[in-house]
Amino acid sequence: MPKGYVGKLLWVDLTSGKVATTALDEATARACLGGSGLGAKLIHERVRTIKGPLDPSNVLCFMPGLLCGTVVPGANRTMVCALSPATTAWGEARAGGAWGPTLKYAGYDGLIVTGKAKAPVYLWIENDQVEIRPADRVWGKGFFETDARLLEETHKDAVVAGIGQAGEKLAAMACVMFEGTYARSAGRTGMGAVMGSKHLKAVVVRGTGGVPVANPTGLMKRAAEYGGKEKTLFKRNFDLGTAGTVMATEAVGDMPIRNFLGGRWAEKAERVSGQVMFKKYGKHERSCLSCPSNCTLVVGRPAPGSATPRSTRPSAPSAACASATASRSSPAATSSATITGWTRSRRATRSPSPWRPSRRGCSARRSWGCRCAGETARR
Ligand code: SF4
Repeated sequence: MPKGYVGKLLWVDLTSGKVATTALDEATARACLGGSGLGAKLIHERVRTIKGPLDPSNVLCFMPGLLCGTVVPGANRTMVCALSPATTAWGEARAGGAWGPTLKYAGYDGLIVTGKAKAPVYLWIENDQVEIRPADRVWGKGFFETDARLLEETHKDAVVAGIGQAGEKLAAMACVMFEGTYARSAGRTGMGAVMGSKHLKAVVVRGTGGVPVANPTGLMKRAAEYGGKEKTLFKRNFDLGTAGTVMATEAVGDMPIRNFLGGRWAEKAERVSGQVMFKKYGKHERSCLSCPSNCTLVVGRPAPGSATPRSTRPSAPSAACASATASRSSPAATSSATITGWTRSRRATRSPSPWRPSRRGCSARRSWGCRCAGETARR
């Protein structure tokens, strides 16, 4: 087995309750390089048996990227892959954080979930121990609360991936969320709905192993060099997050307003930019695992009587898209809109016009057939 892999895949069938591991063979590892490449291969081999995205036969893969769990800067992504309920074709979403690396520390290069549980469940993976546990206590709850409760039930150092009510109700825009209030989201192609269709509320992972690399000292040296360069190149990211690019994006007419039906918002872009928003509400908090970017900043005031921050800093698309679409431009409103997502920002429009899914697909043509933002197009 080449270095960088731990050499095992974890399979869970929720219909039968069977848990199994298989060895990852070297040829597959070299050809697919982990992540969505490996997910695509596993799904492609079974695609003829899949009756639909929300059918128990759909294959849901959680795949850490190849370098996940090493010191390589930024190597922390988890790919979530399945047939998409939004497009009925290939579905893939990704998120940063620590979930993917933790799955590798637990000893697995990927998790593949098939079938459908009779009642809501969550998976508890702690190194070699894998349990399918009832999730009735958290079914119907939002993700932040789910995360907190499942950490109480399992281990404080574990990492949670899960869904909220949108995933349970099989909404085609439902995300898979990671890490509670420091939320990282695998937000495209409705992977949360695939979890919901399997009655799978969450996957909680704790791993205490490591990832073998061929030359630890050499890798550490290169990572330190690259990480240092990255810090200089992306200084604005450290200070302001990707929301620091809002004004530059507006200047070239590329703000993602109403599914790219509009691109300019000269009069108000500055008010929702990182430069303005975070002066008032932000403070540095943390990075995803092994990323020197430190772009995760907590914004908003803590809820009364709580030490828990309300949200992490909105990214550039969230800041621009949520506030401009909802025609709200105060930093507080932008922060709130991105905390509670589209539902709240839609309510804030006060427009009697109904919101309907766009049939045109993604107007940016970033992906053929993409309807990721189509839900927000207002006719
Ligand atoms: S800290 Fe920011 S830049 Fe680094 S991986 Fe996470 S989201 Fe990406």
